[in-house]
Amino acid sequence: MAHRIAIIAGDGIGTEVMPEGIRALEATAKRFNIELEFTTFEFGSCDYYLEHGKMLPDDWFEQLKGFDALFYGAVGWPDKVPDHISLWGSLLQFRRQFDQYINLRPCKLMPGIKSPLAGREPGDIDFYVVRENTEGEYSSVGGKMFEGTDREVVIQDTVMTRTGVDRVLKYAFELAQTRPRKKLTSATKSNGISITMPYWDERVVEMAKGYPEIAVDKFHIDILTANFVLHPDWFDVVVGSNLFGDILSDLGPACTGTIGIAPSANINPEGHFPSLFEPVHGSAPDIAGKGIANPIGQIWSGAMMLEHLGYKEAGDALVSAIEEVLSAGDSQVLTRDVGGQGTTESLGKAIADAI
Ligand code: ATP
Ligand code: MG
Repeated sequence: MAHRIAIIAGDGIGTEVMPEGIRALEATAKRFNIELEFTTFEFGSCDYYLEHGKMLPDDWFEQLKGFDALFYGAVGWPDKVPDHISLWGSLLQFRRQFDQYINLRPCKLMPGIKSPLAGREPGDIDFYVVRENTEGEYSSVGGKMFEGTDREVVIQDTVMTRTGVDRVLKYAFELAQTRPRKKLTSATKSNGISITMPYWDERVVEMAKGYPEIAVDKFHIDILTANFVLHPDWFDVVVGSNLFGDILSDLGPACTGTIGIAPSANINPEGHFPSLFEPVHGSAPDIAGKGIANPIGQIWSGAMMLEHLGYKEAGDALVSAIEEVLSAGDSQVLTRDVGGQGTTESLGKAIADAI
C-alpha cells in the first residue's frame, strides 16, 4: 500500500528546496521499491495567508490527519506577515494538534563540510538531540501583577507531567539502544531550578532501570553547552526539556557547519497522528528566488521520514548518497554555502543520481 505524504512547501526557499526533496525521495523509493504518494497543499504559507486571512483552512486537521507523514519546507516571510502569525498559525498548530511530542535533530558532521570547531573531522560529531516538544518551560501558565507600577511582578510556570517527561525519556532511551555507543546524556539544571529539574533527574534515574545496557550521564545545561563545543565527540543521544532541547538543537547543528544541511523531525511516535519532517533552516528571504539554496536539509529530512515510515535501510542509503556527493566536492554541483557554484537543482539532481 502506498504511503501518503502531504507536501507543504511554505515560503521562500521552502518552495525551492521542496522539489529536490521530492526528487530524492522518488529516486530512493524507486530503488527500494517503496510506494509513496504525494499530495501538495498550498496552505501553511504567507501567500495563502494574504489571500485568505489565515495560514490554514478551518478543516486542516481533517484534511491532514489521515496522511502517513507531513513533509514541510519552511514558513515565514516577515515583510508580508509577522512571524508570530505565520509560525503560530501553521507549524506550531501541527506540532500541538498532532501531538508531535518529540523534536529530533541529528548533529552529524558530514564529509567536505568545515565545522566551525577547529580540527573536527567527520566521525567526531555524530549525535542526536531529542527535545521535549509539548510542555515544560513553554507553558502559557503565569501572569502579571501590579502591571504598570514599580511593583510589577511577572511569572511564568514550567509544567512537567509524569506522562510528558516519561514519554520523551523513553523515546531517547530507545533511540540510544539502536546506536552503537548506547549512551544517553540528560540536560538538567537541578542545582538552580529546584523543583522541576530534580523531578526530571528522578525520572531519568527511574527510566534508566529499564535500560541497563545504556550508559547514562547528566550535565547541567551551562556546562553541557560548553561541552558541545569543546567535546562534541562525547555525545550520542542527548535529551532535554523543551527549553534546554531548543537551545541544544540549534547549537548541535551549528557545530556541524552550514544551516542549509541540518534536518529535523517532529514526531508522534505512536503514529496516532502524522509526524512532520522539515529542514532546520527558515525561508531565508535573503537568498530566496535565486535558486542557490542548499537542498540537503530538505533531502535529509526526507531520509528521516523514510526511517520513520519503517524504511531504515532506504533512509540510510539516502544519507549515504548525500555524503557521497559532499565527499566528491564537485564545485559545479555544490551550492555556495558549501563552497561551490552550483544551484539547488544541480545539488538535488546529483544526490538523486547517487541514490
Ligand atoms: P527562521 O526564523 O524561519 O528560522 P531565519 O531568518 O532565522 O528564519 P533562515 O531563514 O534559516 O533563518 O536563514 C538564516 C541564514 O542562513 C540566512 O542568511 C540564509 O540565507 C542562510 N540559509 C538558510 N537556509 C539556507 C540554505 N538552505 N542554503 C543556504 N543558505 C541558507
Ligand atoms: Mg530563526
